[in-house]
Amino acid sequence: MKKVEVVTDIMSANDQIAQENAETLRAHGILTVNLMASPGAGKTSLILETARALDGRLRLGVIEGDVASRIDADKVAAAGIPVVQINTGGACHLDAPMIRQALRALPLDEIDLLIVENVGNLICPVEFRLGETLRVMIASVPEGHDKPYKYPGIFTAVEAVVINKMDLAPYVDFDLGALHEAIRGMNPRAEIFEVSCRTGEGIGRWAEWLWAQWQAYRPAK
Ligand code: MG
Ligand code: ZN
Repeated sequence: MKKVEVVTDIMSANDQIAQENAETLRAHGILTVNLMASPGAGKTSLILETARALDGRLRLGVIEGDVASRIDADKVAAAGIPVVQINTGGACHLDAPMIRQALRALPLDEIDLLIVENVGNLICPVEFRLGETLRVMIASVPEGHDKPYKYPGIFTAVEAVVINKMDLAPYVDFDLGALHEAIRGMNPRAEIFEVSCRTGEGIGRWAEWLWAQWQAYRPAK
């Protein structure tokens, strides 16, 4: 019987398309953030606050991923930001083919920073590369300080963790030091930001970091 060859180093179809997306984005000088979090952690709010804090220094574009509806996209569009809504029709994460399609509908020459709001979910979004430059997650205060132990995959993978809803910390059972320690333990290089999209606390430092990331990315426009 003929020996069956098993090839293990081929890229998955998703990774192949993710790499093509990355090349398209690079060619247009667009730094791309894959923003992941639980439902209700404040992804859309962070996008809107980031736009406010950057105040035109970077031209934003947004891809909104939701199972259904265009509620978040409407909020972003109302702020004057180019946005495409992806409805996954049930799928609990975005994948590279969805992003490829969304990129065709965005004015890529008018965007410096693209934020992709992934579907609210801490598990599988991290398994699918989209072609992003950076992966960022939000961990909100009401979710508790033990989230990293429950969802180590995402906390380990991201370049930055944004701790949102800091204004609620005095009212809930939340240990900020313990959360920092948990993140540090599994992802020592991750940047950690403490913010409140409601009060604006900490948004400035986060926006400065994005600005610095963009400077380092130095698009070849
Ligand atoms: Mg949202
Ligand atoms: Zn999923």
